[in-house]
Amino acid sequence: MDDLVCPNCHRDDDLAGERRGELIRITCATCNLTWDRDPSPRCKTCGNRDVRVAPKAVWERVRGNQIITVALTTVHLCSTCDADTLRAWLNSGTPIAPDENPAAGLK
Ligand SMILES: [Zn+2]
Ligand SMILES: [Zn+2]
Repeated sequence: MDDLVCPNCHRDDDLAGERRGELIRITCATCNLTWDRDPSPRCKTCGNRDVRVAPKAVWERVRGNQIITVALTTVHLCSTCDADTLRAWLNSGTPIAPDENPAAGLK
């Protein structure tokens, strides 16, 4: 587990792991992100093993049409199939936006 850091806050000092079958459920106490660590991740589309775990935001629209991040999930990004998303995530340093943007219909 030496290369393990939280995909959201990039810290490794407060991680707890709990084995669940093939996967290890990791919890980061620093930012409360929980994700499953697959010991041999693989792209479902092309079989590429060069995938990264990235945090993905879950948004909710609250009163006043504000958008808040209510939770974080994680996704696997393939260096080939998800190159654009991967690059955008690495550049921004913030969780990936949801596929469905609840703010989309507001403008
Ligand atoms: Zn974290
Ligand atoms: Zn792929």
